[in-house]
Amino acid sequence: MKKIILTGDRPTGKLHLGHYVGSIRKRLEMQDSKDIEKMYVMIADSQALTDNFDNPEKIRESLKEIVLDYLGCGLDPKKITFFVQSMVPELTEYTFYFLNLVTLARLERNPTVKNELQQKEFKNNIPVGFLCYPVSQAADITLFNATHIPVGVDQLPMLEQTNEIVRKFNSLYGETLVECEAILPDNENCFRLPGIDGKNKMSKSLGNCIYLADEEEEIYQKVMKMYTDPNHIKVSDPGKIEGNVVFTYLDAFQTPELFKKYCQEFYDLEELKKAYQKGGVGDIYIKKLLFNILNDILKPIRERRKEYAKDMNEVYKILKDGTNEARLVAKENLKNFKHALKIDYFE
Ligand code: ATP
Ligand code: MG
Repeated sequence: MKKIILTGDRPTGKLHLGHYVGSIRKRLEMQDSKDIEKMYVMIADSQALTDNFDNPEKIRESLKEIVLDYLGCGLDPKKITFFVQSMVPELTEYTFYFLNLVTLARLERNPTVKNELQQKEFKNNIPVGFLCYPVSQAADITLFNATHIPVGVDQLPMLEQTNEIVRKFNSLYGETLVECEAILPDNENCFRLPGIDGKNKMSKSLGNCIYLADEEEEIYQKVMKMYTDPNHIKVSDPGKIEGNVVFTYLDAFQTPELFKKYCQEFYDLEELKKAYQKGGVGDIYIKKLLFNILNDILKPIRERRKEYAKDMNEVYKILKDGTNEARLVAKENLKNFKHALKIDYFE
């Protein structure tokens, strides 16, 4: 069976390095794969409104930035259907019926949502829409019969919940929906890239990001501020690798070619790590190496992004065409869904 890929991002800010290693690198690989029947990338604006309902302007602005990020990275509109979540109202219909199949206790158990609730400090004023966003995510996936979802690990609980809904729906109303599978990055260091603060995951909402659109100078400043090992004070001090964000990033972004290009003193990253642990390698040295590697990856993305930004009409047209196409598929699939639910009265 050929794969149907669906994935997306919340327009709550520009895309960052976490997105790049967590999901975009896989998308780039998959858009050229032969066993793909269809690939969708959705901008999850309705979901973004669940915790940004008081700031619709932010969502509107970020939507534009995210499409530019996609195109800058090389995601290809000839191979991928890009669409806007709120413009496919069939998704809202699916969500409404799915809500019957999920309990409040189950929603409250979702570890990613739990973590986000803590960060957002809603206290006793949790918007119901926010708590239910994993259900709307189940709609995004199942409406398009998606089988494979390239995501970071924070999304695994959402996919688990989606498959629970699918099984429940099918057992009640007959085989209609398909289960999905997560596609995680090949490199484990990319499952959940930490922010430059080294504390939480890199996340648009936490302000600890290096954005794909950042200028060279901004990247440099952010890398220089990165958390390393607080006990590594003098160059000669032995240094720690675990929890040292610069090494976490080197693990996530280096390739043997990039390493050779920017570091001639050490044979490979493992040798550099050993030397750092022993003492004698300074933080500035590893930070400069990381900056060069990141800038090598981000420069072409940044430049392509700027080219596309010169013609925003063309950029919006890509999104509009994709949304129209997704809408046709959605309308067709909704018919089967309503038939299963026995609410297709006039058919
Ligand atoms: P928000 O703070 O608004 O939730 P976000 O930065 O978490 O934004 P999302 O739009 O929620 O970004 O996530 C989009 C995709 O990127 C998901 O597949 C998610 O798993 C992946 N992703 C986001 N942050 C990271 C990260 N730090 N490491 C790996 N993957 C990530
Ligand atoms: Mg998120």
